[in-house]
Amino acid sequence: MMRPPLLSPRTVALASLVAACLTAAPAFAQYDQPFQAGETPELTEKRKKMVKWLGESVKGITERTLGAFDAVPRHKFMKARDLKIAYDNKWAGIGYGQTITNPWMVAYMTHLLGIEEGMKVLEIGTGSGYQSAIISRLTTQTHTVEVVRALGERARGLHDNLAYTANIKHKLGDGYEGWEEHGPYDRIMVTCAADHIPVPLIQQLKPGGLMLIPVGPHFQKGNIYLVTKQQDGSIKRKVVATGTFVPLRRTDKFSDDD
Ligand code: SAH
Repeated sequence: MMRPPLLSPRTVALASLVAACLTAAPAFAQYDQPFQAGETPELTEKRKKMVKWLGESVKGITERTLGAFDAVPRHKFMKARDLKIAYDNKWAGIGYGQTITNPWMVAYMTHLLGIEEGMKVLEIGTGSGYQSAIISRLTTQTHTVEVVRALGERARGLHDNLAYTANIKHKLGDGYEGWEEHGPYDRIMVTCAADHIPVPLIQQLKPGGLMLIPVGPHFQKGNIYLVTKQQDGSIKRKVVATGTFVPLRRTDKFSDDD
């Protein structure tokens, strides 16, 4: 009988390292400036502080919603250079002229939608994928649409790597059109500013459903509307906040490498 060859611990360590690099390489190549940093006690502490602050500053926010902010590592959705500010109330660039929204606004909008387990939710503007990750902690039916291919693909990669976000459904395309195939939705959250409320989104909202949408001029402060669809199909809307969001673009004007 042949004896299995004996490998030194050094050879085994080297082989594991090579294997790890080979597995990591294809995923890594898609990322523009990925930050897949693991958790550190310092980051955990900063996140806990952020959650505490959100609890104090978003009036009426539930423990359930705060739990989502505690569970999702925001730093993983940001560029390496922004690690230090990952748990500050700041927006940051994520490439392709787009941004990750500041935590207060994400928390406020999530709170206003009152997402309950089992609700079907549509997000327009996947961006970094952070908001959809938060939504996916609140319901198992999260759908998100992104117009910039590279961002949509990057977010999908991140979501696939975090076990609890694996149920998110992704689409690349113009979110003005919504995602009819999976509609109608209980909740719709638009994270880029439109110059009017898109009719397809109203159509894809369930009667009794809610939609949040910033409406305003490009890169200027606009109104965030809470839109309620009545049982007869008509809508009611009210301004719940103001904010500056990147514009909702009708086509992908960004190339994959800018
Ligand atoms: N929810 C995001 C915020 C990203 S900023 C986050 O948590 O990080 C808004 C995003 O909307 C950008 O990624 C932008 O590319 C995207 N966007 C702009 N116009 C769009 C459109 N017509 N359809 C889908 N996404 C759009």
